[in-house]
Amino acid sequence: MRLVFSVSLTLVVLILFNVSVKASGVKIVFAANNVVAHRGAWKQNNLPQNSIASLKHAIELNCTGSEFDVWMTADDSLVINHDPEYNHLAIEKSTYQDLMSFRLSNGEKLPTLREYIHAGLQKNTSTRLVCEIKPSEISKARGIVTAEKVVLLVSELNAIEMFVYISFDYDILKRIVALNPDAHTQYLEGDKSPDQLKSNGIRGADFYYSVYSDHPDWIQNAKINKIALNAWTVNDVDQMDWLLANGFDFITTNEPELALERSKLSPVSRGWKLVWSDEFSYTGLPDSTKWDFEVGGDGWGNNELQFYTYKDTSNVGVENGRLHIIARKQAKEDRQYTSARLFTKGKSDFKYGKIEVRAMLPAGKGIWPAIWMLGNNVGTIGWPKCGEIDIMEHVGYEKDSIFGTIHSETYNHTKGTQKGKAVFIPNPYDSFHVFSIEWTPEKIDFLLDDKIYNHFDNRHKSEDEWPFDHAFYLIVNLAVGGNWGGKFGVEDTGFPKVLEVDYVRVFKNSSYGK
Ligand code: MG
Repeated sequence: MRLVFSVSLTLVVLILFNVSVKASGVKIVFAANNVVAHRGAWKQNNLPQNSIASLKHAIELNCTGSEFDVWMTADDSLVINHDPEYNHLAIEKSTYQDLMSFRLSNGEKLPTLREYIHAGLQKNTSTRLVCEIKPSEISKARGIVTAEKVVLLVSELNAIEMFVYISFDYDILKRIVALNPDAHTQYLEGDKSPDQLKSNGIRGADFYYSVYSDHPDWIQNAKINKIALNAWTVNDVDQMDWLLANGFDFITTNEPELALERSKLSPVSRGWKLVWSDEFSYTGLPDSTKWDFEVGGDGWGNNELQFYTYKDTSNVGVENGRLHIIARKQAKEDRQYTSARLFTKGKSDFKYGKIEVRAMLPAGKGIWPAIWMLGNNVGTIGWPKCGEIDIMEHVGYEKDSIFGTIHSETYNHTKGTQKGKAVFIPNPYDSFHVFSIEWTPEKIDFLLDDKIYNHFDNRHKSEDEWPFDHAFYLIVNLAVGGNWGGKFGVEDTGFPKVLEVDYVRVFKNSSYGK
């Protein structure tokens, strides 16, 4: 009797203990990155897509999500596969046993959803299970039934909080929301605005990435409506960086390792928030709400040789996602070259921030492209008291270097005291590089492709030394000749010369004030 009692007490204690272990075991903290491995993390290790091995690898990588696709067999089993066929068998018209006669390339059997969820809950409290429910090719209703069965199983296996449901079929998602209004759902098709998603209780947009550049207002709209932003299938660094800069919650990718690296490097993951940008995703003249032209040929204080023209499409234009500033060997007034100089003064100015410009430089002796900033008060207190921050300068006779420099009353090139540094740049003329500064009340860092190469501290001594606590405006220009650029003459071959700019992005960090 005593024994029985003690056994049952132990059982009760064990059950309670198990419950508490389970409760603490399911404490979910999703990985603090943006990466959803598309069909698992399969590519680098040559694993089969949608295999349990690819899911496990996504969990090992600590992706914030791992995606997979669900179909229902003819005998109502839920299985994981991307295509509607598996080894030439139509999944929806085959029995589970039929399908089971084939193995995946790594020897795994075709996973059922139950097996997949079990594997996905093992040693995992940080990787979401992102479940795409495929619409049925037999009937719409069959797709809905598939969704209902998935929801039931997810609930049975206690996986609700780990699950994100995605589908191209809006009605499938609406049915899931009806069954569980708290379910995290994301719509794949890209034909509904975030407003519409919200009105139907759908929690996220998971659109093909170009949908967002076609509807740039949807990004802000999603944020206002607290609609999660996801994009597929993003395998390219530039697209990843763009989505990350724009504060996307998720990036669905076949390259999770690369995306994890970009996610770590993204300004947003380090507390910066995009406040101004030109992605040059339009055609024609530069956006006149953002850019103005400085015009003339007086040498610009440096004996430069070009005439800067006004809205002349032979010197400036936006196409194929890029701004082109074009220097030509072409007489204008008393000058032998024409080019363009854009600036943001009177449109936008910036005090502190991370400024990123991705550009490809033109080649040739005598060429002097520059991406830089001047204090807004240059008109009243003059240069160099207003301060100057040269984010990137390149002179064509020094092919392998770019320069990042500050000028102030104390430190400037007329005295030879400017604070500048050169850094080696690989392939400046046939590849894009990201030139940036991180400017806070305490310092300015100069970066080439995410690596700091120059650093200037605010020693809090005087404004003559540090005039960088007021608003500055941005300038992008392509000069020909000049005291520095033309030091060894101008090579007249290879004109026109083009400075290509892929984007300009300005981020703010709330800890540094406005
Ligand atoms: Mg899918």
